[in-house]
Amino acid sequence: MVPGFVNAHSHAFQRVIRGRTEHRTAAAADSFWTWREAMYRAANRLTPEDVYDVARMAYMEMLLAGITTVAEFHYLHHAPGGSRYEDPNLLAHQVIRAAGDVGIRIVLLRTAYERAGWRKPANPLQSRFIFRDVDAFIHETEELIKSAAAPVGIALHSVRALELRSMVRLAEYARSKNLPLHMHVAEQPAEIEECMAEHRQRPVELLRENGIPGADFTAVHAIHITEQEATCLGAAQSTVCACPTTERNLGDGPVPADLLLQKGVKICFGTDSNAQIDLLEDARCLEYHLRMKKLSRAILPAVVLYRGLAESGSHALKMPPTEGDYLTIDPDHPSLAGSEGGDLAAQIVFAAHTAAIRDIFVNGKQVISAGRHPDQDEIISAFQNVQERLWR
Ligand SMILES: [Zn+2]
Repeated sequence: MVPGFVNAHSHAFQRVIRGRTEHRTAAAADSFWTWREAMYRAANRLTPEDVYDVARMAYMEMLLAGITTVAEFHYLHHAPGGSRYEDPNLLAHQVIRAAGDVGIRIVLLRTAYERAGWRKPANPLQSRFIFRDVDAFIHETEELIKSAAAPVGIALHSVRALELRSMVRLAEYARSKNLPLHMHVAEQPAEIEECMAEHRQRPVELLRENGIPGADFTAVHAIHITEQEATCLGAAQSTVCACPTTERNLGDGPVPADLLLQKGVKICFGTDSNAQIDLLEDARCLEYHLRMKKLSRAILPAVVLYRGLAESGSHALKMPPTEGDYLTIDPDHPSLAGSEGGDLAAQIVFAAHTAAIRDIFVNGKQVISAGRHPDQDEIISAFQNVQERLWR
């Protein structure tokens, strides 16, 4: 029996493009940026019911992989073309409803997205994400907090997507309400270059100078950072959410987790693009990416990777300990047989197959029995219908 895993960073809707961007396009070189255009095109075709069906699929798969809490970094707000739904939180409610129906705990991180980038013309493919102004965003967030059947937090999409004054204002707002504050930080070199051009500072330096990192702050990725920036995050007692299965899929680079740990930063994990949903794989890949880079072994303590699966994720979401969230792992599964008496944390992180995960409990209620969800067939079939319409 082990504590339920906490997935601190997900974009559920991206589940629809799994396996559909793994080929060369006409672009000179496929990159994060060509992938992003493909992701936008899919995002722009989803109806509110599709958003529900896709989120149910992603969240059921998370439960099957031992995840009992998901933090949804939610930036799909408006109707296709950017027109507002009558309830501006309609899609957030759809996602929360999906989580409730499959039985996973959710924290909805309502995400602020303001612009295509510094001095960049508006990108019509981003029209479902963009807010009108900060006041309206805060007002809509207040409405969501009042009406949502789940805890809410704030996410700043990235330094690329927001004006500095908006980031500062929203960070102050999150702090005044004691909400968790998350942000994509330093995922791609182009983000650093753009930030240098606009602010003459690297992203973490800019955030630090404006008081944004704190103990309630989680930087998602933090890949392209300097030692000084790692020191800033450590001094602020911030958390980094690493998403290695997505980072390797997108060619982002390895998270410098050894440096971050040295500086006192906590590390948790996220499935991010949901190209794969396997938080154990995220934990082991954080270490494996560093081994490949440093041509060395056993760089991060296994127990830190293990703690990243639950404890550090709960911290990043400001969640109190939840004893009712746990899973059982079958020690006789072929991936674990013979592991008795060894280092349990290392066995689970480096060897456990998700098929060894048997029963899942959320808030004391059993939601997965013997590796199966009670609504599995119906959830998969609804998802397949969405995919058929989306890709025909
Ligand atoms: Zn992300």
